[in-house]
This record gives sequence, structure tokens and C-alpha cells, in this order.
Amino acid sequence: PSQPAIDALTPDELAAEHERLSATYAELVAKGLSLDLTRGKPAPEQLDLSNALLALPGDSYRDGTGLDTRNYGGLAGLPELRAIFAELLNVPVDNLLAGNNASLEIMHDLVVLGLLHGTPDSERPWSQEPAVKFLAPSPGYDRHFAISESFGIETVPVPLHHDGPDMDVVRALVADDPAVKGMWTVPTYSNPTGAVYSEDVTRALMSMPAAAPDFRVVWDNAYAVHSLVEDCAPAHDVLGIAAEAGNPNRPLVLASTSKITFAGAGVSFFGASAQNIAWYQEHHGKKSIGPDKVNQLRHLRFFGDADGVRAHMARHREILAPKFARVLEILDDRLGGAGVARWTEPEGGYFVSLDVVPGTARRVVRLAKEAGISLTAAGSAFPSGTDPQDTNIRLAPSFPSLDDVATSMDGVATCVLLAAVEARLGR
Ligand code: PMP
Repeated sequence: PSQPAIDALTPDELAAEHERLSATYAELVAKGLSLDLTRGKPAPEQLDLSNALLALPGDSYRDGTGLDTRNYGGLAGLPELRAIFAELLNVPVDNLLAGNNASLEIMHDLVVLGLLHGTPDSERPWSQEPAVKFLAPSPGYDRHFAISESFGIETVPVPLHHDGPDMDVVRALVADDPAVKGMWTVPTYSNPTGAVYSEDVTRALMSMPAAAPDFRVVWDNAYAVHSLVEDCAPAHDVLGIAAEAGNPNRPLVLASTSKITFAGAGVSFFGASAQNIAWYQEHHGKKSIGPDKVNQLRHLRFFGDADGVRAHMARHREILAPKFARVLEILDDRLGGAGVARWTEPEGGYFVSLDVVPGTARRVVRLAKEAGISLTAAGSAFPSGTDPQDTNIRLAPSFPSLDDVATSMDGVATCVLLAAVEARLGR
């Protein structure tokens, strides 16, 4: 670490440090950069790993059961592809549907169905309740929160630790308040902190008493197989755990191949109890005569089996891991001794979560923007886009090249330090 601890500086040293950092920042601005660390998109080289899909399924359009994938029907999706992801997600194949390209769309539908029809356990549609609330472990995924907020659902932040949400807070909210109908979770390599829900937390979430009989946990396992290390975190048997606890309908499992194959042309998955699946299919059957099974077939041919997916993820890791390593290296080198920031060291997923001096996150993002480095808006990982501490910044290093990641992060570190010194000087 090359940076002195900001808190230990005398007033004169602090003024000198401000001058030095302002000059470094001016040099950064003068470079006229145009770099983007905003969204967790796969890099072009990652998309290239799946280019064989572009020529699949070739002339063969029948799956192993003889089904003609070109035609209507097959609302549940191809059984052979469901079997592959059933293994990876630890969900029984009969409880897992394969859909179109976006799991976010299914999550949106699930909330809409809860609001308009109610779930199998609801006394009335959620829209007829005096109030509806969803819990939001934060920092979390902004698009989750946007769904609930867009329907006027009060989206309540709860603290998120490295092994899952603060269960004391969650238990208290869920046990006492029948308005709490749902909860957003990303159980594996969460967006953006990389949290991995432990088996204990998983059991607690599925077994805790809920005032609402129709309380649901959206178990968005978007990064189930997306590890940056050799050993991927296991997918917990969340449906089995919930059933054992007497709450079989509580979990709604989602996943997709968006960050396995093509982000815009993958396959989504929805897993739940038999009763939830029947409920979803009944309503979903009104909006669809069947998913894009040709796309499902080409994915089936491309992967072959679950090990095919695992091998494919290892190739992603080869591209992604050096970028994450570089981010951590630069943060450590530039900020390690300064005492002005903390960050996550994720073992998977697409993000590093950076906490800067409270009250300076928005300033850091603005400084970076003015230097040509786009960061996700400060606060966006919190409900209503408001970080009460103004401390959190989500870094998404997947899309830029390794060199651009390094240039961006060095620039971000300068902005973090400058904002910290400004805050210390009371500017
Ligand atoms: N869930 C999480 C936690 C995500 O980070 C993302 C993508 N950024 C999605 C869902 C989107 O998934 P899909 O492409 O399947 O809609």
C-alpha cells in the first residue's frame, strides 16, 4: 500500500495531500477517458465462448422425446434441458420449468400474478390488501427493487451480511407484519456484494414463522454456477428445506443462462413447489402457447449435460478472474493503507461492492464521471436508489478489457481518495 492513513495526517499534511490528489485528478481528467464500469454485462470474449450456438441446432429440430421444437406447445420447456439445470440448481426436474430468455420477466410476472390473482395461499389478491411490502437485503439488485417499487410495493431494506441477510431483522419483520408478502434474494454470489447464503440462513429463511400465509422468497439464483474460484458454492436444496419446514410454497427459484451463454438470447428457469408451478402454469398459459424451444434445443445440444455447463463456466472464469484480481490488486495498492474504503473479495458473480467514506459515494461517482469513467449511480443497490449512508458503489469489471479495468480502477481510487480528503477538510 502506497497511501498514508488519511485519518493520521496533520492539518498541514492533509492540505498537502489534497493538493497532490487534486493534481493527480487533473491528470486523470486530462486523459479524456471514456470507460464504463456500470453494468454486469459479459465481455465480447465471453459471448464468443458460445458462438457454436449460432449454428445450432442445425437441421435437427426434435428433442430426445421426439418433440418438434419448431411448433407450439411444451409450456414447461424441454425435459432434457430442464434435467441439466435441475442438477445444477438442486431442484427436482418436475419442479423446474424452462422458459424464454429473461428470468427477470418471470419475476415480474410472479409479482403481477400475486397482485392481480393472489398466490395459492392468499386470502385475496395482494392488490386488495391495505399494504404490501417486500424485504430487500441491501445492497442488492436494483432491478429487483424496481419491480416491487413500480407497483407501489413498499420495498424495505434489510442488512446483508456475507452469509445472507441479518436474520434477526428479517425474522422480526416477517413474524409481525402480515403486509410483508415477499422478499428478494440472490443466494449465490449476490449482486453486488458476492454474499453466499449459508445453509443455516437458508433453513432459517424457509422455516421462520410468517404473519402472512402467502409470504414468498424470490430465490434468484442468477449466479448459481458463476464462481471465480475452482470450487463453486453448492446450490442448497431450498425446495426440500422449505417443504421439510412445512412451507413448501415459500421459495420461488429463478435462474437463467444469460451469463452462461448469450445475455440477450439465453434460457430462463423457474423452480417451485408443485402447487406453485400449477398456479403459474395456469396463468402463464394465458400469455403463452409455449416457450422458444428451438433456443432450448440448441442450448441442450451445446451443453450436453451438467458437466458441459461446468466446463463452460471454467472458460468464463479464465476471462473474468484476472479482471477481478486486477480490481482487488489496485484497490489494495491504492487504498489499502488509507483507511477510507472497504470492499468485497467475491468468489463469484459479477461485482465488487466498494464502501467509501460515508457521505462521499455520490461525490466519488461524480468525480469519476467528470474524468470519463462511468460508474453505477451511487445508491442504486438500495431501495428507491437511496443509500442512507451514501457509502456504497457497485463495480462491474466484466465488460471492459483487462487494461481498461486497470485504468478505470486506478482512476476510481484517485476519486475515492480525493473525496475522502475533501470530506476530512470539510469541503
Ligand atoms: N438476477 C440478478 C441477480 C442479476 O444480476 C441479473 C442480471 N444482471 C438478472 C437476474 C437478470 O437475469 P435475466 O437475464 O435472466 O433476466
